[in-house]
Amino acid sequence: MENCIFCKIIKGDIPSKRVYEDEEMIIIHDVAPKAKLHYLCIPKTHFALLKEMDDERAAIVARCLQKVSSLEETLGLGEGYRVIINQGKNGGQTVHHLHIHLLGGEELGDF
Ligand code: 5GP
Ligand code: ZN
Repeated sequence: MENCIFCKIIKGDIPSKRVYEDEEMIIIHDVAPKAKLHYLCIPKTHFALLKEMDDERAAIVARCLQKVSSLEETLGLGEGYRVIINQGKNGGQTVHHLHIHLLGGEELGDF
């Protein structure tokens, strides 16, 4: 998708600190971390909202979560972390390419 920041990051047109990549996803450091550790797991396929998931996209999102769980120790998230997927205006979504926030590296407060 043109003008999508995350598609540009996936293509390598915008630099990012990548910690993992395979054919379906990347995991990068968030440029403006909201916790000591703040990663974004981004599926390579462009869609914005969970409600736009078909079976194939749902399977990719499931594999993203599975991969995140397998990398917990490597990412420094072994003592726990928070998973957030912001959706739409009220959810505070600013980048309209579905992504999974991973926040950790410290004890997080209540919402
Ligand atoms: P949202 O608010 O859409 O759920 O989250 C978007 C996230 O993307 C924000 O936490 C923001 O800091 C991050 N972000 C925006 N632009 C960039 C960028 O160019 N590089 C990286 N690594 N993160 C970005
Ligand atoms: Zn995109």
